[in-house]
Amino acid sequence: MTDAEKKVPTNFIRQIIDQDLANNKNEGKVVTRFPPEPNGYLHIGHAKAICLNFGIAEDYGGGCNLRFDDTNPEKEEVEYAESIKKDVEWLGYQWRNLCYASDYFEQLYQYAVDLIKCGKAYVDSQSADQIRATRGTLTQPGTDSPYRNRSVEENLELFRRMRAGEFKDGEYVLRAKIDMASPNINMRDPTIYRIRHASHWRTEDDWCIYPMYDYTQCLSDAIEGVTHSLCTLEFEDHRPLYDWVLDQLDVPCHPQQIEFGRLNLDYTVMSKRLLTRLVNEKHVSGWDDPRLPTISGLRRRGYTPNAIRDFCNRIGVTKSDGIVEMGVLENSIREDLDNSAQRTMAVLRPIKVVVENYPDDHTEMVTAQNHPKRPELGTREIPFSKSIYIEREDFMEDPPKKYFRLSPGTEVRLRYAYYITCSEVVKDSDGEIVEIRCTYDPNSRGGTSSDGRKVRGTIHWVSATHAIDAEVRLYDRLFTIPNPNPSDFTAQLNPHSLDVLHNCKLEPSLKQANPDQRYQFERLGYFYLDRDSGSDRLVFNRTVTLRDSWSKKA
Ligand code: ATP
Ligand code: MG
Repeated sequence: MTDAEKKVPTNFIRQIIDQDLANNKNEGKVVTRFPPEPNGYLHIGHAKAICLNFGIAEDYGGGCNLRFDDTNPEKEEVEYAESIKKDVEWLGYQWRNLCYASDYFEQLYQYAVDLIKCGKAYVDSQSADQIRATRGTLTQPGTDSPYRNRSVEENLELFRRMRAGEFKDGEYVLRAKIDMASPNINMRDPTIYRIRHASHWRTEDDWCIYPMYDYTQCLSDAIEGVTHSLCTLEFEDHRPLYDWVLDQLDVPCHPQQIEFGRLNLDYTVMSKRLLTRLVNEKHVSGWDDPRLPTISGLRRRGYTPNAIRDFCNRIGVTKSDGIVEMGVLENSIREDLDNSAQRTMAVLRPIKVVVENYPDDHTEMVTAQNHPKRPELGTREIPFSKSIYIEREDFMEDPPKKYFRLSPGTEVRLRYAYYITCSEVVKDSDGEIVEIRCTYDPNSRGGTSSDGRKVRGTIHWVSATHAIDAEVRLYDRLFTIPNPNPSDFTAQLNPHSLDVLHNCKLEPSLKQANPDQRYQFERLGYFYLDRDSGSDRLVFNRTVTLRDSWSKKA
C-alpha cells in the first residue's frame, strides 16, 4: 500500500519521531509496543492505541511488540490474552515479538536488588493504609517512613525473604527511595513490589512478590529496546518516575514516554472495570455483545477492520482527551459497507400482499442489481409470485399527504418487479390488517411502465412462497445519556437497546449468507450474519442503519 492510499494523517507523535530520525536518535530505529493487561477484552479505545503503535511501526519500517502487562495475578486470564491476540490480528496488524512482563520477573527482581544496593530502594514494614496516610497531599509533603533508612544489608535480606515466601500479603513492600516532599505524589517513595500469594496464569506459583505497574512498564520497554513508549494522558504525571527508574539502573536503552489523549465515545462506557460489570451482571450477553464497544462486539455486529482503522485515522491523535460521537464511528462503517456490501431484499415486519390478477402457482425470476454503483458486482435473479410480503410500515390505510408508499387506490413500484395498486384491505375481527389485495400491471415488468407512467414510491418485497425465515436483531445505544455516570450506570441503561424480530422474511439468496459477506437489506441498513446462526436457523445483526437517523431522534 502506498502512503497516499493509507491516508494516515500526521500527528504530534509522528512529528517527534521525524525529529528523532532527523537527529539520528536511537540509530534511526523506531520500536513501539502495545501493552494491554489481560484482564478483559479490548475495546475501541484500545483500537486507537493499536492503530497508533502498529501504524507507526509499519510506516517507519520498525516493529511493534504485543506485550502482556501481566503483573496482577488475580485479575488475569488466558482467555483474555487469547482474545487480545485475536483482536490485534483481526485489525490487520502483526506484532514483531509477543512479549510478557512475566517473562521479565527474574530480571526485574535483579534490577530491584540493584536499586537496593545503590541505596535507592528500601523494604517498608508499614501497612498499605499507613503508607497511604503518610503520602501527604497536593499541598502537603509526605512523611518519611520509620523504615526508610534501613541498611542495604537488611533491605537485601528482607527482600530475599519476601521473595522466598516468608511473609504474608501486605506485611512488607519494596519502595523506591526518592523524595517524600516531591510536588509530584508519584515520586514520594512509590511502592515497586508487593507480596501477593496468588497463582499467576503463566508463572503459576513461582512468585509471591509482584512488581508494580510503573516499575514494570519502563523496565519492560527498556528490555525490549522500545524507542517510543506511547501511553495515555493519565500517565503524564508518572513520566518522572518512568525516567527516574531508568536513570538509576544500567539498562539497555532509555525509551521516551509520550502521552496522548484517550478515546471516549458517547452513550457507552469504555473502562474495562465497567465493561466487566456489564458482562458479569448480565446486562449484556457477553464480551462480544454487539452493543458493546469491544472489538469482539463490533466484529460480531458486522464492523470491518477497515472501518475501525478508518475511524482511528479520522479521530486523530492529540494531546487532550475528548468525547467522540458514536455517529463518527457509525459513519466509518457506513461508508465502508456502502461501497462493499452486497444488496439484497428482506422484510423485517412482514404483511402479506396478494396480487389478485397474477397467475396462481406461477413463479417468475426478476433481475436485481447486486450493487447500484458497482455494475461489476453483477446481478442476481429473485423469484416473484402471486403472494408476497412487504414491510408493514410501507402500507397505510389512511395516509397523510406526501405518503408515497402503498395505500388504498395508490400505485407503487415493487423494486425490480412490477407496479401494484392496492384494491382491498382484509382485516380480522379485531380490525387488524391481515392481508392486502392488489392488482399489478403486467406491462411494468422490471419497474418501468411501457406508457411512461410514473409512480413516486418504490418499496422492497420478498415472495411469500420463496422467502426464508430469519431472526433479525436491531440495536440502539446501550445508554440513554451521553456520559453514563459510573456510580449509577446500570440505571442509565437503555431498555430498548436490543430489539429482536423473530418473523423476518428474506430473499432466498440469503440462505447462502456467510460471515465473510456483509449485506445491505435495501432501505433497512447493513446486516451481518450472527454466530448464533446454524444450518436450520438464520440470525442477522443490523450493523448500522443506512442514514444517521439517530442524531435527529436525540
Ligand atoms: P481500561 O481503563 O479500559 O481498563 P487500561 O488502560 O487499563 O484500560 P490496558 O490494558 O492497560 O487498559 O491498556 C493497554 C493500552 O491501551 C494502554 O497503553 C492504554 O493507554 C491504551 N488504552 C486503553 N484505553 C484507551 C482509550 N480509551 N483510548 C486510547 N488508548 C487506550
Ligand atoms: Mg491498565
